[in-house]
Formats: sequence, C-alpha cells, structure tokens
Amino acid sequence: MMYFGEGVVKGMMVTLKAFVASYFKGPEDGGLFTVEYPEQRLPEKENFRNFPFLIYDNTPDNLRCVACDICAKECPPKCIYIVREFDKDNKPLKRPAVFNIDHTVCMNCGICEEACPFDAIYMDHNFEIASAERNENLLFRKDKLLKSNEYFHKIRPTDAMAIDERRAAAEAKKKAAEAAAAQKAAAAQAAPKPAALPAEPPKAE
Ligand code: SF4
Ligand code: SF4
Repeated sequence: MMYFGEGVVKGMMVTLKAFVASYFKGPEDGGLFTVEYPEQRLPEKENFRNFPFLIYDNTPDNLRCVACDICAKECPPKCIYIVREFDKDNKPLKRPAVFNIDHTVCMNCGICEEACPFDAIYMDHNFEIASAERNENLLFRKDKLLKSNEYFHKIRPTDAMAIDERRAAAEAKKKAAEAAAAQKAAAAQAAPKPAALPAEPPKAE
C-alpha cells in the first residue's frame, strides 16, 4: 500500500540523484544528460548503422566489389548505380567503373550490406553529411565511398574480426582444393600408360 505522496517523493529522489551525479559523472555513466554537441560527443555504439561504404583491402585498387549489381537490384529505393569496368579489348572486368549512392534517397536500411555476397559493402558510422549542395555533396561517388578494412575494424571491430576470419578460412579452403586438384592432375600425368595391344596375326585362308 502506498502512502499519500510516495510516488512524488520517489520521482523527486530520481531527479535529486541525477542532479548530484551530474557534478561527478559523465554522460556515459548516467551523469550529465545534456551533451553539448558538436563540442561534446558520446562515443558511437558499435552497432550503430548509417550510410553504406565500399571496403578495400590494403589499397583502394583492391576493392572487394566485383560489380555484380546484386546490391543495386536489392536496394528498395534504387539509389545505387553501378557501371562495370571493361578493359581495352572490351572484356568485362570484375570491378566497377562507376559506383554511386544517392544519399538523399538512401534510407539506411542496410539491405545492401546483407545482400552483398562478397563482403564489399558495409554500413558506416558517418552521419555528419548535411549539405545544402545536393548533387556534388550528397551523391557519393566511388572515390568517396571507398574506405579501408582498417577503418571498418575501427568502427565495428567485432563484425570486422569475424568477417576477416571467415574470409581467411574460405581462402585457405580454396587454396587446399586447388592444391589437391593440381596434385591429382600431376599424379595422372606421371602414371604409366597401358602398353599398346599387339597387332592381330593375319587370318589363315
Ligand atoms: S557491393 Fe557487393 S553486391 Fe554490390 S555490386 Fe559490389 S560485390 Fe556486388
Ligand atoms: S542502405 Fe538500403 S537504401 Fe541505402 S543503399 Fe543500402 S539498400 Fe539502398
């Protein structure tokens, strides 16, 4: 049974506790609740997701995207535009010549990340992209979308670690299968060939 005014006292105690804590604790520890952005910032949570970016390994030439177009087809508002690169003999290459994402249309759903079979596109933490100039600043072209795997490790270490391990295991399995196939082919070549059958004797008349 509650006595008269108990709820008010409990509420005021919470306020008093937060008021005192604001002098001794930071926002991360439940102290100061007002963060004076942009001078003050809370650390971003690892699971925070914003606009997508393209990953490369080591150097921007080693981008993982193979221009398969799956993400563009799966993107609900169709804000990804990809054109495959071709060599001088007009042979298609496994890389995009053009990869644009219109950030004015992207709805941050993350479906592109889920759909990509090549671990090439992931959701970023970057949210400070406001601009009054739409075409130049909010249409992100390939160069602006490219970010390193080290950056991915920095913003989402748990996912990045798991993905690296999975990719390394898949690569090791592929190399083992290739080595086994090469060994089998070499063994088949080295095996003695069956002797030729003797010519049939001429038939008696
Ligand atoms: S990001 Fe992934 S799904 Fe999209 S085109 Fe590149 S490889 Fe294909
Ligand atoms: S996050 Fe969603 S809307 Fe944005 S590019 Fe990816 S699939 Fe398209």
